[in-house]
Amino acid sequence: MVENEEEGIFCAKCNVKMKLGVIPKYDYEEGYTLHNVKAYKCQKCNNVFFTEEQAHEMEARTSELKEREFGFERKVAVSGKSLIVGIPVELAEHLHIKKGQKVKIVPIAKEGFMIRKTN
Ligand SMILES: [Zn+2]
Repeated sequence: MVENEEEGIFCAKCNVKMKLGVIPKYDYEEGYTLHNVKAYKCQKCNNVFFTEEQAHEMEARTSELKEREFGFERKVAVSGKSLIVGIPVELAEHLHIKKGQKVKIVPIAKEGFMIRKTN
């Protein structure tokens, strides 16, 4: 595809001038769906082209999505009368949590709780 600032962007297949528009949904990276993505589109073959700037924007939005979903999913288990949740090894190592570590459980609204080291 050829990008020319004065004349616009042309579809490599059809050699038709592409139109700037918005794609409702686009997976820049698999599994991370972005909404309302700016892109150039060929009216003839629906070919899509992104400028470098548009690609950078998608990249930034994708990493934002990733940060927001960062976390560990665990199932609640039972031990005696208590419900227990395992602490992932990666997280324990990162936070230097070992057996015997004292923690405080702090409820957060009605969504859940936060666990904090107390020493
Ligand atoms: Zn085309």
